[in-house]
Amino acid sequence: MGKKEPRFVIHKHDATRLHYDFRLEIGGVLKSWAVPKGPSTNPKEKRLALATPDHALSYIGFEGVIPEGEYGAGTVMVWDIGTYKNIKKKDGKLVPLEKSYADGQIEVWLEGKKLKGGYALIKTKGLGENKWLLIKMRDEHADARRNPVKSQPKSALTDRTLKQIAAS
Ligand code: MN
Repeated sequence: MGKKEPRFVIHKHDATRLHYDFRLEIGGVLKSWAVPKGPSTNPKEKRLALATPDHALSYIGFEGVIPEGEYGAGTVMVWDIGTYKNIKKKDGKLVPLEKSYADGQIEVWLEGKKLKGGYALIKTKGLGENKWLLIKMRDEHADARRNPVKSQPKSALTDRTLKQIAAS
């Protein structure tokens, strides 16, 4: 029996500032990063990703409105969702994801509805303690002309806009 593949989600979050929360299922929780500009499909565009508190796995499919005064207040959309594979290797062997997270050197292969292929999350000491970079790896899914944040703005689950989610 194969192990069930871990999941990832990218929440589009209209909070104080619009941003994208990139979340990977690691060790029974959703490890999370807030990406102000959202993910790119261009390997030359490094996107700042700020590590944020872990979320419960049950939050993965959440879409709706977090009330004023609560943590993360604002409208939340499932912008992309799917499974992923750990592809970080050292000396030809896969590095356990928990170790990659601790090392600040994550490489995953995404199978989302919008995003596919390799993405690296690299902790950058020079920028500050919680600062990482989200970078598209060079593979057949890399595409400098595509800009899914702009061209595919709606929910991957319900095809709704942020406005429609906020109004429901
Ligand atoms: Mn957020």
